[in-house]
Amino acid sequence: MKRFVVGFLLAVLAISTFAVTFLTIATGGTAGVYYPLGAAMADIWTRNLKNVNASAQSTGASVANVNLLKNKEVDVIFVQNDVVYYAYAGIELFKDQPFKGLRGLATLYPETIQIVALADKGINSVYDLKGKRVAVGAAGSGTEVNARHILLAAGITYNDIKVQYLSFAEAAENLKNENIDAAFVTAGHPTAAIIDVSAVKKITIVPVDEKIVQILQKNYPFYTKIIIPANTYKGVDKDVETVAVKAMLAVREDLPADLVYEMLKTLYANQKRLIEAHAKGEMILPETGKEGMSIPLHPGAEKFFAEMGI
Ligand code: GLU
Repeated sequence: MKRFVVGFLLAVLAISTFAVTFLTIATGGTAGVYYPLGAAMADIWTRNLKNVNASAQSTGASVANVNLLKNKEVDVIFVQNDVVYYAYAGIELFKDQPFKGLRGLATLYPETIQIVALADKGINSVYDLKGKRVAVGAAGSGTEVNARHILLAAGITYNDIKVQYLSFAEAAENLKNENIDAAFVTAGHPTAAIIDVSAVKKITIVPVDEKIVQILQKNYPFYTKIIIPANTYKGVDKDVETVAVKAMLAVREDLPADLVYEMLKTLYANQKRLIEAHAKGEMILPETGKEGMSIPLHPGAEKFFAEMGI
């Protein structure tokens, strides 16, 4: 009997010591910023957290990620702070389907709404997009939500344009081939997909003017003003005024608090690895991790930020 008990206890110990927690991170398209940063995070967590095996997955981005998290197909998501709020509250495209188990880990960096147009198509303002072939982001992206809001603020619906649901990589290809005239890209700037187009085509970045900003902010408080500095992209030699939201990480409330705490701790401790993956890693700092947080923080994140005095 005693031998049995000892054996049993050893087995339990072995299982609890070696049981691996798999963390799947939902990111975005491979030409975006979420994807390389997500891959770096997976690497950081796998290397530094005991018995954690994390991996990053390419997805349609924000909206798709919320649904993947809700269906328990993934454990951590990159998401825009506007989209995650709509999901938590059950409004906009999540109307009557609130996801109350959503919790925030940290906000990361501003995501700029960039409207890229081929320079010779006469598109100098949002209003000029009427009648054009416009990529509005991948189906299930936050980009697509922003495209709809901005067009509507300018009095344009999807019936007034030729809508194309394309990932950043697909949009870049189609701009290069002149199959489309313009594309919305909500991502940290500079964005690789836009650099890619600017290398072979003359591009403009269409400003989001003050009048549209006013309308947007009245309906959707998450849009903040931002300037894309001159020469961020080849051929765009003036500052461009537009709006931005924030990239953040979210999880379900059932993720253990001590794990969340360790995830944040190791994430910030390995910022260098994030910067190696993408320049936006420079902005991933605990000091700004609660700025623009639009849903309740996970208790593990609360503890982390409280300890840091943030
Ligand atoms: N914010 C974008 C979206 O949710 C994705 C950005 C990225 O992939 O870096 O549509």
